[in-house]
Amino acid sequence: MNICGYYPESINEGEGLRAVLFISGCRHRCPGCFNPKTWNFNYGEAFTPERRREIIEEIAGNPLLDGLTLAGGDPFFSAEEAADFIHELRAELPGFPVWIYTGYTYEELTASPGSAEWKLLALCQVVIDGRFVEELKDLTLSYRGSSNQRIIDIPASLAGDTVVLWEPELSFQGV
Ligand code: SF4
Repeated sequence: MNICGYYPESINEGEGLRAVLFISGCRHRCPGCFNPKTWNFNYGEAFTPERRREIIEEIAGNPLLDGLTLAGGDPFFSAEEAADFIHELRAELPGFPVWIYTGYTYEELTASPGSAEWKLLALCQVVIDGRFVEELKDLTLSYRGSSNQRIIDIPASLAGDTVVLWEPELSFQGV
């Protein structure tokens, strides 16, 4: 697996202050995609054990972080490797919150319980789902590019077997 970017701190890809890891590779090919270079699975740098450790140590050493966000490309095309990274991170930081971006819909990802994609989804707290649709582009939306995309509370959705949209923490409402 390759990564095509890493932000130690960002406020744009999820609630609060988050580290963001961009995983190379995407086959959705949405017209108007923000960065088609990231479709290439060989784009960026190899995610070596050394690089993984470096990033985990950087996250563990930053007490201001509210969580990690996995973006891309689409991390679900590298579901097993992305899940391994979350496990490695949580061995150091148990329960560390993870948000994840994908061009798949929640329904597509949960169609086969137990699949690599389903397991990756179940490891995360929030998913921003769905392909980017240029006609529905809306710059006023938080954390999303187009209005078809949803911000979904994964544990609540899996528990109730229905999509439950994520609600911001009280401390962030009205900010
Ligand atoms: S899912 Fe994201 S990275 Fe993939 S083509 Fe669509 S906008 Fe681009």
